[in-house]
Amino acid sequence: MTELNTHDNITEKWFLLTPKETEEKLQSSLTEGLSSSESLTRLEKYGPNELQAGKKTPRWLVFLQQFQDPLIYILIVSAIISAVAEHGGHDWIVIAVIIFLNAIIGFFQEGKADKAIEALKNYSAPDAQVIRDGKEISIKARELVPGDIIVIHEGDMIPADGRIFEEKNLKAEEAALTGESVPVNKNINIIEDPECPLAEHKNMLFSSTLATYGRGKVIITETGMQTEVGKIATMISQAEVKLTPLQKNLEDFGKWLGLVILFICAVVFLLYWLLGGEPWLKALLSGVALAVAAIPEGLPAVVTVCLAIGVTRMSNRNAIVKKLHSVETLGCTTVICSDKTGTLTKNEMTVRAIWTGGKMYEVSGSGYEPEGKITLADQEVSVANIPDLEMTLRIGILCNDARINQDEKTGKWNTFGDPTEGCLVTSAWKAGMEPKSTNDKFPRIDEIPFDSTRKRMSSVNEINGKKMALIKGATEIILDFCKNIQSDGIIRPITNEDKNQIIKAYEQKASEALRGLGFAFREAEGIPVEIEELEKDLTFVGMQFMIDPPRDEVKVAMQECKDAGIGVKMITGDNLITATAIAVELGMIEKGEITHEGKDIPNMTDEDIEKCKVYARVSPEHKQNIVKALQNRQQIVAMTGDGVNDAPALKNANVGVAMGITGTDVSKEAAVMVLADDNFATIVHAVEEGRGIYDNIKKFIQYLLSSNIMEVLVLLIAAILTLPPPLVATQLLWINLVTDGAPALALGYDPYDPTLMKQQPRPYNEPILTKNFVIQMFFRGGVKTIVILGIFLLYIYPTALQPTEMHYEDLVYLYENVDGIAETLGATVEGLSDLELLVIKYEDHSTLSLLSSQELLLDRYVMWHARSVCFLAMMFGEMANAFNCRSEYSSLFKIGLFTNKIMLYAVGISTILTIALYIPGSPLGLIFKVIPMPFLEWLWLIPMIIIVIGSVELMKLFYRKKLNL
Ligand code: ATP
Repeated sequence: MTELNTHDNITEKWFLLTPKETEEKLQSSLTEGLSSSESLTRLEKYGPNELQAGKKTPRWLVFLQQFQDPLIYILIVSAIISAVAEHGGHDWIVIAVIIFLNAIIGFFQEGKADKAIEALKNYSAPDAQVIRDGKEISIKARELVPGDIIVIHEGDMIPADGRIFEEKNLKAEEAALTGESVPVNKNINIIEDPECPLAEHKNMLFSSTLATYGRGKVIITETGMQTEVGKIATMISQAEVKLTPLQKNLEDFGKWLGLVILFICAVVFLLYWLLGGEPWLKALLSGVALAVAAIPEGLPAVVTVCLAIGVTRMSNRNAIVKKLHSVETLGCTTVICSDKTGTLTKNEMTVRAIWTGGKMYEVSGSGYEPEGKITLADQEVSVANIPDLEMTLRIGILCNDARINQDEKTGKWNTFGDPTEGCLVTSAWKAGMEPKSTNDKFPRIDEIPFDSTRKRMSSVNEINGKKMALIKGATEIILDFCKNIQSDGIIRPITNEDKNQIIKAYEQKASEALRGLGFAFREAEGIPVEIEELEKDLTFVGMQFMIDPPRDEVKVAMQECKDAGIGVKMITGDNLITATAIAVELGMIEKGEITHEGKDIPNMTDEDIEKCKVYARVSPEHKQNIVKALQNRQQIVAMTGDGVNDAPALKNANVGVAMGITGTDVSKEAAVMVLADDNFATIVHAVEEGRGIYDNIKKFIQYLLSSNIMEVLVLLIAAILTLPPPLVATQLLWINLVTDGAPALALGYDPYDPTLMKQQPRPYNEPILTKNFVIQMFFRGGVKTIVILGIFLLYIYPTALQPTEMHYEDLVYLYENVDGIAETLGATVEGLSDLELLVIKYEDHSTLSLLSSQELLLDRYVMWHARSVCFLAMMFGEMANAFNCRSEYSSLFKIGLFTNKIMLYAVGISTILTIALYIPGSPLGLIFKVIPMPFLEWLWLIPMIIIVIGSVELMKLFYRKKLNL
């Protein structure tokens, strides 16, 4: 095999070659395509058809970026102050380690979130229709290789560069490459000028551009980075990573918090220095402890993880979210504007009746299987003897791009292409018109494709040696272009009476929720194939009526929307009567409720538009009007769409939703969410997920911030009372990151509140820190503060604390418990704080009476002991509070103590880590300045847990009464 020219240093000027030459050069076949084994070899050789994203941020920079946060700056300064102020102390090391740990966690979490999004991107990556081994199949666009033959339809994103060798009215929008947004007409003609600029390469299609009209076949010449867009890929800046409103909200909050912290730190410093008479450096250390306490170190990582969890969870429910942002917006959706066909209905069309020559025929059978009879008044008819019927069915099968075939394994009949057209193939086949032979007998010469603005399609076929235009489309529109009617095989001018009869029959069927298409024809000899010329002076011949049953799950979803305060609008291209009948069937509207056609929209006020629930015969630009009007009325709009022309409406809606199965690449590109199953119910599930995720994020923000408030209050009140700080900086860091970390994440996984979809949508701009939220935060934090300060006071001012008595017992106790610690530290006595040195000194001198600094040691010990108890109580208080935070208003006992399994594991882990601190001789204990305690003192946990849970239960009860919940 000779080497292909493509992908070598000199790229071929493909536009100079004929299709045949291109085929030879690429060693492919225009009719059969490549073989699957050859395509695999080429894939191996040329690599996947992918654009390597522009310059990626190097990993080390991503790591450094983790430190870019005002709160982290405060922590770094705190570490420096600790290092300077505490000669030989190791607090600064702990703070530094924790800053690093935090950065490492953030770094990995960010990577994880990126991966989740990346995986979803792959999932929604475009497919390509390719011909391989002579068969048309669908593959992922990244598997394309040079020499592949691909089929392009309107709305496709072009997956690679290629030479066009067959086309019908093909137009492409190449703005991504040339900057020109007006679609260019494409053709297959050879270009002779080798210097012809890219924008003039009309016989080529280029990767990343869009087919906006028509269809065509292309032989792939270049893939991946060798494509035109690949060559400039490095110039295309990567999409800027935008912060979600929530992240922005938190970032602003972080900045604000930073300022507040600096202010409170200054107050605490002054209190200790001026009022407490402490040396300034020591006073500064107390300020540092407060800074450490107030900063919610774990928060940003948990938010990112929670959003990523949400995105994955949604994809499991068939909603592919392309941007984290939309998770939050989805939760606030107040109106869903949905297409009808395929979204509210199954898009499994079956022709049930045919009207022609003044008679209504019935069609039996189900699905796309070509088995069934055509009857008139229960008598089977012979179509060959009824020319009107024959012509109606013939137009249906010829003016058609769909195929039907039987699955070899299941035996089920399926349609490929538009189901509206698929069912017309079936109905004709039932009458004996086999698709292949019919198409061979009456070959297609030309066509004007269907588009949802014109609502019709035309093909030009050769019928019995004559060029005939065959037209099908929305009945009333076809009727407008008809001059004649064929009845009993005779063509005569159409009268108003005929028209009335047709409309009556049409409306009758439409009110039964059937969708009706009209069929017409004309001789086309010598008439240009242009819309204005071809689609006029037609002869009306008949109508076919098809059912498209509503999806079963949509009724339930409608009710859910009602309960959740979400309005639903049907926005369809279909006829008003059919649309209304289906809306009534789905429970969207009452019989007789007002509905509108798209053409009414320009004359309606925003308020009227907001009220109406069904819009029929809508064109894509009407969709934009509806979005705008609803947004003017402060609604948050989710809008579905599938066609090329829907893209602007999808972009303008708050949540643009594209159809995964029937949607064009263009609509998928414009949307922020893609429905893998095209199902309306999936949108409702996604809204539920959006609400749930936001709710969970609120839960752990409440949890983490109420913990910070408690810490700040404890330190601040102690400073005001000129007491020593009840906890030291490293202990607070441990709580913020270690004790709080796992339960906070578990809150991200909390099962959603069952009443979530019974609540009204959350206002879009509602800040997280609402009045109620802040009150709750202070309440939760306040209660714990009181308990902690109580314990602290009890321990540092015990009435029994008479130096002589306590002295001996305490020292003995200390001696017994610090044995292991002293041993571990024996080798590194240098650099230890004086307390630890004293302990070791104490061990060196074997009798107590020899210890010169007994008083000091006792004093230190009491403080150390008091802090150890406070620290322990605080950690368990935190764990209890994590359970409390699972619901804003519902009782914990109602939602169930054990319903969040991950929470149980998280609390288990935090408990084990806590116990690890208190094991006699634990080096961790020494670092975090805790001493082991006798079993009885552990019982402090019980009142702490009871008070924390009991008080919040009472608060929730109060709110439930107040808010009537
Ligand atoms: P929805 O907008 O809810 O998806 P729809 O399929 O009715 O529903 P469009 O695809 O915009 O919306 O079609 C508009 C109208 O055009 C249809 O109601 C039908 O009368 C007509 N139509 C649909 N498909 C075809 C087709 N393939 N050929 C000719 N006419 C069609």
